[in-house]
Amino acid sequence: MKKEIHPNYRIATVTCSCGNTFQTKTTVGDLKVEICSKCHPFFTGTQKLIDSAGRVEKYYRRFGKGKNKNENEKQEKEK
Ligand SMILES: [Zn+2]
Repeated sequence: MKKEIHPNYRIATVTCSCGNTFQTKTTVGDLKVEICSKCHPFFTGTQKLIDSAGRVEKYYRRFGKGKNKNENEKQEKEK
């Protein structure tokens, strides 16, 4: 390898918001992630989603949560 052109490639610990940690190699140091293969629905097979940014809450606030569903459908038919 050429000298002084390669970044420092070292072992780092990745910490997920679900509590899972694992080690990998990286040039940027330790990492914090919001979702990993231990908690992502694709790998767990469940519908549970960790909503750390509050996006689901924001969606419900904007478009209503369930109970107004019929009213919304009526309004759309009238349009
Ligand atoms: Zn995780």
